Amino acid sequence: MLGVRSGPDGQVAYLATPVAAAEVVPTLPEGVPPTRVLRFASHCVSGCANRVGPDCGLADRMLALPAPPDTAPVPRCHLRAHCKWWHQTGTAACHRCPAVATTPLADDTLAALVADPTTTREHLAAHLSHPAPPSPPAS
Ligand code: SF4
Repeated sequence: MLGVRSGPDGQVAYLATPVAAAEVVPTLPEGVPPTRVLRFASHCVSGCANRVGPDCGLADRMLALPAPPDTAPVPRCHLRAHCKWWHQTGTAACHRCPAVATTPLADDTLAALVADPTTTREHLAAHLSHPAPPSPPAS
């Protein structure tokens, strides 16, 4: 497991050392989808929906997410030496990585587009130039 999603925006807090998902998932309250509260790491597979030739399409799409200044520190992440995203796009990926989610928050359209393997650069460009209006507050 890579980290825990926390706070109102669901940003990932990275674990200092790996923890097996099998140890944590059974402890979640019933009805809580694991991807809502946890971030998992897995090996690349040839049939991955995100694969684009030798590259990871998610690593490319995640560059559409807002990032802190380049001078900001990258997360302390135990996966870095083996991370496809890091090897593909360097600190640009790490700066955006905490916002990546398999199960984005309901009102986070950009994160949902980034997570969707069918999203193209054109989709992202269109969304960023005309973002959907924010949802009305719940009454
Ligand atoms: S992109 Fe960076 S922070 Fe995210 S998993 Fe890879 S090495 Fe860790």
